[in-house]
Amino acid sequence: MATSLTTRKGGIGMNLPTATKLNIPLPSKQCSNCSGHAPSFLHQVRHLGILRRLCTACVLRLHPSSFCPVCFAFYAGSPPHPSKRVACSNCCSIAHSHCAGDTLLTSYLCPPCKDSSFSFFPLRDNKIDKKLAIALLCASKIASSSMGKAVTVAWAEADRKVREAALARKRAREALEHLVVLTRKEKVRKENVNVVPAKIEELDMEDGDGDVDLVRHIEDSLVKADD
Ligand SMILES: [Zn+2]
Ligand SMILES: [Zn+2]
Ligand SMILES: [Zn+2]
Repeated sequence: MATSLTTRKGGIGMNLPTATKLNIPLPSKQCSNCSGHAPSFLHQVRHLGILRRLCTACVLRLHPSSFCPVCFAFYAGSPPHPSKRVACSNCCSIAHSHCAGDTLLTSYLCPPCKDSSFSFFPLRDNKIDKKLAIALLCASKIASSSMGKAVTVAWAEADRKVREAALARKRAREALEHLVVLTRKEKVRKENVNVVPAKIEELDMEDGDGDVDLVRHIEDSLVKADD
C-alpha cells in the first residue's frame, strides 16, 4: 500500500510539469483571421459584431475604409472630402487623391486589390522601420476606435436590458393586480351563490383557505414591490 502510494505520488510528481502545461490555457498569440503568429502585436477589435484578436496586417486589411492605404492616415470616422479622395474600384478602400497618384485615366486599385500577396505589415526579424511604425500606429488607432464603439454598443445593450427588465416587472405587477381582482370577485361570487356544498367544491380550484392565502401572498408581493 505504502509502496503503491509512493509510486503514484512519484508518478504525479514526475508528470506535474507536463500536466500543468496542458491544463493552463495560454493566451492565444494567433491572429484569428490569418492564423499567423504575432506575439508582439495582436489588437483587440470588434469586427462585424464579433470581438476578435487580429494582427496588424489583418486589422488594416479588414478596415479598408478607415485609413489611407498609402500614407496610413486614420480617418477617425470622417474620410477626406469627395473632391480629395479616390475609392478603390474593387473594395471600399479610400485613399487621398494626392496619395493615389494619377488616377484620371485608370481606375484606382488599393495595394491589396492590386497585389493579392501584398501585406500592410511585412514584419521581418521583428525589425520595425518608420513605415511599419506608422502602419502599426494606424492599426492601433483603428483598434482603439473599434473598442470604443464596442463599449458604446455594450452600454446601449445593458440599457436596453434594464428597460426590458423594468417593463417585465411592470407587466408582472399588472398581472398580479389582475389576479387579485379576479380572486376577490370569485370569492365574493362563491359567498353570494347559494348552492349545495357539493357544487361549491366543483367551483373551487383550490380550497377556500388556499384562495385566502393566495390573495394575501399576492398582496404581500405588491407591497414589497412598492417598497
Ligand atoms: Zn492576421
Ligand atoms: Zn494618404
Ligand atoms: Zn481595394
